Amino acid sequence: MQPSQSDLAARSLRAVWHPCTQMKHHERTPLLPVARARGAWLYGPDGGRYLDGISSWWVNLFGHSHPAINAAVADQMATLEHVMLAGCTHEPAVALAERLSALTGRTLGHAFFASDGASAVEIALKMSFHFWRNQGEAAKQEFVCIDNGYHGETLGALGVTDVALFRDAYGPLLRHAHRVATPDARQAAPGESAADVATRALADVSKLFEDRAGHLAAIIVEPLVQCAAGMAMHDPEYLRGLRKLCDEHGVHLIADEIAVGFGRTGTFFAHEQAGIRPDFLCLSKGISGGYLPLSVVLSTDRIHAAFYADDLARGFLHSHSYTGNPLACRAALATLDLFDSTDALVTNRKRFDSLEKALSPLAAHPHVAHLRRRGGILAFDVREEGSLVEGTSAEGRCAERRPTDASFARRYAANALAAGALLRPIGQTVYLMPPYVLDEEEITLLADATLTALAQTLESRT
Ligand SMILES: *Cc1c(COP(=O)(O)O)cnc(C)c1O
Repeated sequence: MQPSQSDLAARSLRAVWHPCTQMKHHERTPLLPVARARGAWLYGPDGGRYLDGISSWWVNLFGHSHPAINAAVADQMATLEHVMLAGCTHEPAVALAERLSALTGRTLGHAFFASDGASAVEIALKMSFHFWRNQGEAAKQEFVCIDNGYHGETLGALGVTDVALFRDAYGPLLRHAHRVATPDARQAAPGESAADVATRALADVSKLFEDRAGHLAAIIVEPLVQCAAGMAMHDPEYLRGLRKLCDEHGVHLIADEIAVGFGRTGTFFAHEQAGIRPDFLCLSKGISGGYLPLSVVLSTDRIHAAFYADDLARGFLHSHSYTGNPLACRAALATLDLFDSTDALVTNRKRFDSLEKALSPLAAHPHVAHLRRRGGILAFDVREEGSLVEGTSAEGRCAERRPTDASFARRYAANALAAGALLRPIGQTVYLMPPYVLDEEEITLLADATLTALAQTLESRT
């Protein structure tokens, strides 16, 4: 017999310490037990089903339990489950590195594998610093990050993350980075365009670079959408400007496409929309189709060459035990095959146009501001009467802004679940980032659940 939902939830709360969670809040907010999943759907042990409107924290691309990825992982499991990647190599890691390089026009031809997004960010930071040291520019030790940016929660990644709720408690442990203005297009004054906001934000970078470039190793940016900030979107002009400033001042450009890569913004990589290439590209989340932990940092010939020497200590002596795990690499290769076989970037355009259209009633909604979209990421900010928080608050991926049970995000999430969709607003921002498999019926259902949950949440506001 299946355990009942409440049994499983109770056992979980006793034995499992859940991520990004104040555990006490689960005294009142139930956990969602998931027994199995297929396509866009999660199924509870008691038969309920929920459309995964946020791709399970932005990792899933082609639906859950996809037959082609299942087959690839099963085949790999029967052949080679894992071997260390120091001194050894294997076809899945090599093939994946080659294909990712090809996807960058062979400009980022060196793949350093790791296990999750935060470790990819750590690697890019360490590599940038070490590059400058190997070049005889040891003073270049500092990093630059962008207001409201999010790059993960290990200590190095937190140092370049500007989400107070995650960072402040650990402040004394961190090596803080310089922060520059966000290009968030929501800051546009009346009559201003998103490109104008980008230009203003670039002036801030330019000033810092002029003062400090001799000490700066790299700037890290989430291209086009600062996701954990509440899907803050910016004009591609910002990335073009960053590239130019980085070239002029000798500062590395690290593109953190852990969330926005793999087609999420409409192009395969987000930075393509600016017509630029970064010096380092961090990838994770969707890379394995949402199956297994895997990340990679891609870098240029120039970076790689600076470490290539007889001297051991000039090498990049960083490692994780499961680096380049063959099962994860095979899941990634099968995911790349699905981009080709489903013509995903093209079919997604139609799919997300449709979803945008289904959400169009929100444009005139009196409590909704900044309805926006970039590729397959759709978002809007909700103003509750008397509690207008202009949607620039960065609360990261924790749903709550305030530790109160009445918070908008938690009430909204509960209402959405009751309407059949898994959604997790960030503060006052509701967003949709579903997998690339929704048909018209599922699009209608997701849009209806989004609107219904909004109406109910506003009705029940306290
Ligand atoms: C999720 C995320 C990370 C961290 O990845 P983890 O796998 O959760 O460590 C880093 N950067 C961005 C932009 C992310 O969205």
